[in-house]
Amino acid sequence: MTGLAAWGRDAEEQPAAVRALREALRADEVAHAWLVVGPPGVGQADLARSLAMALNCEQAAAPDEACGTCATCERIARDRDELLQVFEPEGAAYVVDTVRTEWVATATRSLTAGRRRVLRITAADRANVPAQNAFLKLLEEPPPSVVWILEAEEESALLDTILSRCRRLAVVPWGVDALRRRARDLGVADERVEAVARAALGSPNRLADLADPDVAAARDRHLGVVDALAVGGPGLVVPTAKGLVAWAKGRVGPLRERHAEELAALERDLGVDESGRGWPPGMRARVLKRQERLERFEQRRAIDLALDDVGSYLRDLLAVQSAASDDVLVNLDHAEALRRDAQRLPAADVVRALAAVARCREALDRNGNPELQLERLLMAIALPLFRVAA
Ligand SMILES: [Zn+2]
Repeated sequence: MTGLAAWGRDAEEQPAAVRALREALRADEVAHAWLVVGPPGVGQADLARSLAMALNCEQAAAPDEACGTCATCERIARDRDELLQVFEPEGAAYVVDTVRTEWVATATRSLTAGRRRVLRITAADRANVPAQNAFLKLLEEPPPSVVWILEAEEESALLDTILSRCRRLAVVPWGVDALRRRARDLGVADERVEAVARAALGSPNRLADLADPDVAAARDRHLGVVDALAVGGPGLVVPTAKGLVAWAKGRVGPLRERHAEELAALERDLGVDESGRGWPPGMRARVLKRQERLERFEQRRAIDLALDDVGSYLRDLLAVQSAASDDVLVNLDHAEALRRDAQRLPAADVVRALAAVARCREALDRNGNPELQLERLLMAIALPLFRVAA
């Protein structure tokens, strides 16, 4: 392996971040904590993996170039080594218990092999303040063998005292070329590649979702919301919101099945009998609570897909209204509908509807009722349509 390829294909889309990490490795000045700022899923996994490999490779040709073939490299590459560990929030946020029990325990455990352990915290901006304060103690006296990688979209959500102890790396959304390549890798049909790559909004994660035919079909429905409301009137607001939430709930189905299997496997291991006896005190409630949090989060992810769709459609309407070229459209495959709807919804109302999308997300962040919040958003789109029609 030579050059950037050794850092993984996704990392190739983040040349500035790779350069900074390579320089730090060559100078033997790898910081104890890095803050990787940018949208999720754009190469963070590769960056962390390559850093862990370079730091621990048994036969590295250079400090910034792991061999990729020694036993340590292979284990890290397959995510099978304690030298690289990933923490993900269970549901909406990291809580102080997780930091105290899991992060502290992992960071302070002594190494049995290798030189430095890379601990990757995804969505670190979703740690609440008590969790951040608990983490701060770890950062103030960093175990020498640990390298933290905190990933955040919103760095302003992190305490200044944490930010000041991290070296910052920026990661950026992917370009359309990279997304086209990924779409082909995912088996998206040739005639859909361009549309999916544009609709991905720079995110390989969203692209992977859109490669799913169920999500692609839902996207067409979401993009058709302005038309549906224009034709059907405000009476469609409530059923449309209900339909959106029902779809989002349906997306949780596979996860719920996995959770049921997980619970059954646990019961077998613990020897729980038919009447439910055999669970250690409090354990069943804890497992169920965790599963419920994850399922709620999965449902929110689906609603976010819908909000991304609607938001991108509204932005496209503004582009059409300002006579921009089709080339800037995210939803190029809906250009006809966009031109029609641009006549129906005045630009000032499109701007208000976009603000309503942002308000909807904020309300959902505060655990607002999804159906009610989506109704509010759809009403904000429908009312001006109705006013114009009347
Ligand atoms: Zn190696």
